[in-house]
Amino acid sequence: MSEKSKSEILREELFLKRKNGRLISDEEILKKADDYCVGYKQFLDLAKTEREAVKNAVDMAKKAGFTEFQRGKKYNAGDRVYFNNRGKTVAFAVIGKENAENGVNITAAHVDSPRLDLKPNPLYEDIELALFKTHYYGGIKKYQWTAIPLALHGVFALKDGTVKEVSIGEKDDEPKFVINDLLPHLAQEQSKRTLSEGIKGEELNVLVGSHPFKDDKGSELVKLNILKLLNEKYGVTEADFLSAELEMVPATKACDIGFDRSLVGAYGQDDRVCAYPALTAVLEVEVPQKTAIAILADKEEIGSEGNTGLNSDFLKHIIGDISKMQDCDYTVALRNSKCLSADVNAGTDPTFQDVMERRNASFLNYGVVVTKYTGARGKSSTSDASAEYVAEIRNMLDNAGIVWQSGELGRVDLGGGGTVAMYIANMGVDVVDLGVPVLSMHAPFETTAKFDIYMCYRAMYEFMK
Ligand code: MN
Ligand code: MN
Repeated sequence: MSEKSKSEILREELFLKRKNGRLISDEEILKKADDYCVGYKQFLDLAKTEREAVKNAVDMAKKAGFTEFQRGKKYNAGDRVYFNNRGKTVAFAVIGKENAENGVNITAAHVDSPRLDLKPNPLYEDIELALFKTHYYGGIKKYQWTAIPLALHGVFALKDGTVKEVSIGEKDDEPKFVINDLLPHLAQEQSKRTLSEGIKGEELNVLVGSHPFKDDKGSELVKLNILKLLNEKYGVTEADFLSAELEMVPATKACDIGFDRSLVGAYGQDDRVCAYPALTAVLEVEVPQKTAIAILADKEEIGSEGNTGLNSDFLKHIIGDISKMQDCDYTVALRNSKCLSADVNAGTDPTFQDVMERRNASFLNYGVVVTKYTGARGKSSTSDASAEYVAEIRNMLDNAGIVWQSGELGRVDLGGGGTVAMYIANMGVDVVDLGVPVLSMHAPFETTAKFDIYMCYRAMYEFMK
């Protein structure tokens, strides 16, 4: 064996090392990653909307001993509570040994994903076919949503206060829906449109039926028949669409990708690929030093607005409730608190490498991504974590043997994006983004690596334990 040269020794000492996590990890860890993703894929199939994600998360938490927080009740270290905000955002907390004034440890992921919402008055008939008008939610490439099977999820809220849950198109024997695209033979003019205009917003019309109600008189007999079916099943009339939240999502199931099964393919992995790790981690926290909080939030994809988004006072109120219970000041608690904003980053795609700056891009299987800042055009609209806080997180990850990498959201001035980090930072909390690299982000079917997902879970646990 030849001895190492001076430069080799020095290089080992001084250079930043980036290595494929599957290459440097033993079989046991890879097996754990595979096993962990079995539950993850099940969760993806059960939780295609924010409401379903919250419902399933609460069910899992109840089994793990969590109860709904009651104001005025005294909780002690190790007690497990949850705060359900309108069934669309939920926070799980395990009370720590220390008072909240010393700060709490927050992980924050989101459970809404890009999709097609039905318009308030969606149903119409044209050339004896019935369709739904939609208004897309979040950033999508519209052409990707045509000619794929869709399922309808959501609720009708009726005037008498009852809420009818809807889920059609997930079971094998259930019908599905589709947005049709133009055949290539007649797409000469369409093909001249730019990619973003290839399918326009008002062309995202979902086919929902073709059978006319049998009657010689009257018009819109197909639409009438659809309303009759909906009335029989849910007791609704056309006016009830006005107070509904109905979402068209891909009717596909989560699955393994690749001969080696090392990847996961599914709809809605942004950001359930971080929400599930945050959830499973908080369920495993026993008696933490500092109160551990995992939030699964709504509305991130449209800017975290609204009373179920993290740009609301919801998180402040939770920390306020816990602080009040411990007779301490919640503003002090916030200033001393720390957060991992658990959201995805863009993994480098072999086919589209030029949108990345390779030295600062994230790669599949290189572990969980720490993203110091997101934003666009000169770091606009990002919280940009402090060097001190990033150092703390580096130390935590390295000490726990968690494989991680740093990442940036693409080349400078090419585009950009944001997460909930800045809204939490605005409350005075230290925040950095940490999550899983994704391919085809915001597409109806996104790809992630099992190894990275497992490392994300380990990071969430390490941070809150
Ligand atoms: Mn996201
Ligand atoms: Mn997103």
